[in-house]
Amino acid sequence: MPELPEVETTRRGLLPHLVGRTIRDVVVRNRNLRWPVPRDLRRRLRGEQVLAIRRRGKYLLFDCRGGHLLVHLGMSGRLTLVPDDCPPKAHDHVDLQLEGNRSLRLTDPRRFSAMLWVVGPAERHALLRGLGLEPLEPEFDGAALKRLATGRRVAVKHFLMNARLVTGVGNIYASEALHRAGIHPLRSVARISAERWERLAHAVRDTLERALAAGGTTLRDYAAIDGRVGEFGTECAVYGREGEACPTCGSAIRSLRQGMRSTFYCPGCQR
Ligand SMILES: [Zn+2]
Repeated sequence: MPELPEVETTRRGLLPHLVGRTIRDVVVRNRNLRWPVPRDLRRRLRGEQVLAIRRRGKYLLFDCRGGHLLVHLGMSGRLTLVPDDCPPKAHDHVDLQLEGNRSLRLTDPRRFSAMLWVVGPAERHALLRGLGLEPLEPEFDGAALKRLATGRRVAVKHFLMNARLVTGVGNIYASEALHRAGIHPLRSVARISAERWERLAHAVRDTLERALAAGGTTLRDYAAIDGRVGEFGTECAVYGREGEACPTCGSAIRSLRQGMRSTFYCPGCQR
């Protein structure tokens, strides 16, 4: 599933190829995504210029004069730049044909992705307005996390993974960030000191940025914008490593079930 670093890597990879470009035409082959692709998408987008590409949580916003194209990659979606004459395959649902004979293609075997048109301030759209703190923004720090935790008693890992509180921190990144910060995943947010919140904020940001850096190296040409980035698993300290030695203290890594998810942690250095 594309996580925040993959979505941000996609955004950065697309910027030089889309911003300032005009959309010549739109081909919708399958409207049945998570929500139906609007019937008027072609009419709305034809002739529009992409002014900017922003990200909010795992949503991408392609800003145009008349509105914003809102894209979510769901479980298995990806955006690729392909030559106009590249024949579509079974799961290629939408093409935005750009000037310069290239198309931005949305491919998604499982069809949980979304492509919607938003008129008016995008931040107020129902899908975006409830989203929590952006971990890559400068406002994301220990004080902001501590404020957000006030009055709550949930386990810190659940807190981090709640998109209404903090956006885009999936299971792998939450596990890794907690290990980096030395905080036990089951610890209640009511029992974390200001200093440890600060350490956690840094750890979340570092973990995401390391993943971004890993993905960034594959973006030298547009052909690489295909969702193959984020091979972050190979660099994990605890995630998926039950029984192996903790790279920090050498203790054996353990796993536990938290809700529906497996959590990996080190009993030696996470308290
Ligand atoms: Zn350890």
